[in-house]
Amino acid sequence: MSILASIRPELQSLQPYRAAEQVDDTIRLNANEAPWSSAGDAFRRPLNRYPEVRPGGLAATLADAYGCAADNLVITRGSSEGIDLLIRIFCRAGEDTIVTATPTFSMYRHYARVQGASIVELATAPEDDFAIDVDALLNACDATTRMVFLCSPNNPTGKTIPRQNLERILSSCRNRAAVVVDEAYIEFSDQPSVVDLLKDYDNLIILRTLSKALACAGARCGSVIANPAVTNILAAVQAPYALATPVVECVENALADGGFAKAAKWVTEIRNQRAGLIEQLGNMPFVERVWHSDGNFFLVRVTDASALLEHCATRGILLRSFADDLQGCLRITVGSNDENQQLLLALRDFADITR
Ligand code: PMP
Repeated sequence: MSILASIRPELQSLQPYRAAEQVDDTIRLNANEAPWSSAGDAFRRPLNRYPEVRPGGLAATLADAYGCAADNLVITRGSSEGIDLLIRIFCRAGEDTIVTATPTFSMYRHYARVQGASIVELATAPEDDFAIDVDALLNACDATTRMVFLCSPNNPTGKTIPRQNLERILSSCRNRAAVVVDEAYIEFSDQPSVVDLLKDYDNLIILRTLSKALACAGARCGSVIANPAVTNILAAVQAPYALATPVVECVENALADGGFAKAAKWVTEIRNQRAGLIEQLGNMPFVERVWHSDGNFFLVRVTDASALLEHCATRGILLRSFADDLQGCLRITVGSNDENQQLLLALRDFADITR
């Protein structure tokens, strides 16, 4: 049985929307476009023309960067859209389930709810360093489970799932469920992407994004990497022309202009800054615990999270509270050296005030 069988039966033979043919240097009277350029048209592809249905050049660049074939990859409007599309193609409303380990990125739950899929959440514990109990996760999967969502490195804990654990989950879920590994923060981790496992597991689906290490969050550009049986249906479900000409060109420019090399430099810098911040915070009197992180952020538990949040906010520094799910916990994004120094000043002030 292939992964295709796990996709909603009514979508298994869905064909993509048939867009008007696009051929360069032709008189295009087949798409009801305007024949004149609009004001402010500063793009390589004229704005009066529809963009490519799927941006082929950009997909080839990203596939090359991520180490997969172009037919393994669909570009989405941020990886958030990828999560939405995936849940829509695998889960039947009122019947199917996704399984995930919490605390984790809230969009899996959000889009499962939008689709009417049930959610089974396996809690991980701070005292176990948020490690996922693989047996418990597999026990949480039943006949209704269509997808397992795993975030590695995980937001907000920063924990990377060991590769052998992922392989156990992939192998146990084979012929039963898709396993989505969200690698939004993989560039900041010591562990490489598991993209090479695609050839062994047709139920593996990987999410990548340009919003973090590639510094293009505003462009809304992510990728779903999967078996072509999945990417073909995703592409048929996604709106045609989803990636607008300005977005495609600005991302192409960012990547062509030494984007990957620049990102690698920043990643090294952020990892160094992360180590420095974690060390400094570990010595502060109001800090109960700081967790090691493989992301561009880390989780910290403090004596009075809301007071610290407020204290930093009055100094113009925003932190993210996770106190609803994890008592006393805040997530701190690693910023530039200058931003981090300002954070440390504010934290030292807080230590003085609360001493
Ligand atoms: N996955 C994870 C784990 C995230 O933390 C985020 C954003 N915070 C996303 C996916 C979505 O990123 P985007 O839609 O910008 O690609």
